[in-house]
Amino acid sequence: IKKIALLTSGGDAPGMNAAIRSTTLYALHHGIEVIGFRHGYNGLINNEFIRLDEPSVREIVGRGGTILKSARCEEFKTCEGMKQAAKNLSAQNIDALIVIGGDGSFAGLVKFKQFYSGQTIGIPGTIDNDIDGTDHTIGFATAVDTAVNAIDKIRDTADAFERIFVVEVMGRKSGFLALNVGVACAAEHIITFENFSNPGIELQHIATKVERIKKHRGKCSHLIVSAENLYPGGANKLASDLADYAAIECIPCILGYIQRGGDPVAKDRILATHMGAHAIQELLAGNSDIMIGIEGQFCKPIALSESVEHHKGVNQNLLDIQESLQDLR
Ligand code: ATP
Repeated sequence: IKKIALLTSGGDAPGMNAAIRSTTLYALHHGIEVIGFRHGYNGLINNEFIRLDEPSVREIVGRGGTILKSARCEEFKTCEGMKQAAKNLSAQNIDALIVIGGDGSFAGLVKFKQFYSGQTIGIPGTIDNDIDGTDHTIGFATAVDTAVNAIDKIRDTADAFERIFVVEVMGRKSGFLALNVGVACAAEHIITFENFSNPGIELQHIATKVERIKKHRGKCSHLIVSAENLYPGGANKLASDLADYAAIECIPCILGYIQRGGDPVAKDRILATHMGAHAIQELLAGNSDIMIGIEGQFCKPIALSESVEHHKGVNQNLLDIQESLQDLR
């Protein structure tokens, strides 16, 4: 291998820069030239790239966002777009393409193999942690901490006024953020994909719980942490439905994009550094069409197609434990 390309695609995640840095430096260490395409797959199609060398990745290990910029790219979903991207890679004699992104980005990379004959590797970078074949994705740990810091502040004001809040966190179609943030904040109630059946039953659950906890502790703050894209109409609708259903006054709060920003915590920096360098090790071993997962303390490659096909659910035991902690007799 003489020359590789990398790009960041889909939702940005804290730690992507650390992955760019370690991939670049580990490749340079092995005498491999590196270029970075900008704005996700758009850069590949429009031939927008920069040369990555030591100065360009200096002091980015702890910086949020991505120096290569990220984006969605509809054109990459078309044959013409993919052909153009493959043509640009061939013209520059790129032996391998590394994509740092989420499952959508990997689905695109799997399809791209029909047009591109070089090696391909995915590095899981998304705050959602919704990728099968890896314990953690780059950005997840930071997003959990960011949400927890914000919700701790909400708890203070909720306590002062003995109020009920429903806080909506990100996660797309996955409940990892909701569960982990809810546990860390000792939320009285967590709504995630694994325990949600329908709005009527949810309202009933919440109303019963609010009543029971009030009986046990007296009037107190009460936090409901909910995954996004779950309750129809989101946190605002849930709050108004609770008022209609049981005259429960509840303040909705959507945390939103702050969860994607900020400097990566040490755990994400280490994970990204490990995965980035491991991607180069796999390329040097001649491997392709894989995603770099982490299992325990070791990087473990799995087929890219597998990571895209399977859904990873949250730890049901942790969810059950959390429910028991809020259900004293
Ligand atoms: P996150 O979940 O963190 O937002 P993601 O990688 O899943 O990250 P998506 O918006 O799903 O984000 O995908 C990013 C990009 O990957 C898309 O804009 C598109 O360019 C490409 N992509 C996604 N799905 C496909 C597909 N089926 N075929 C080709 N390209 C795809």
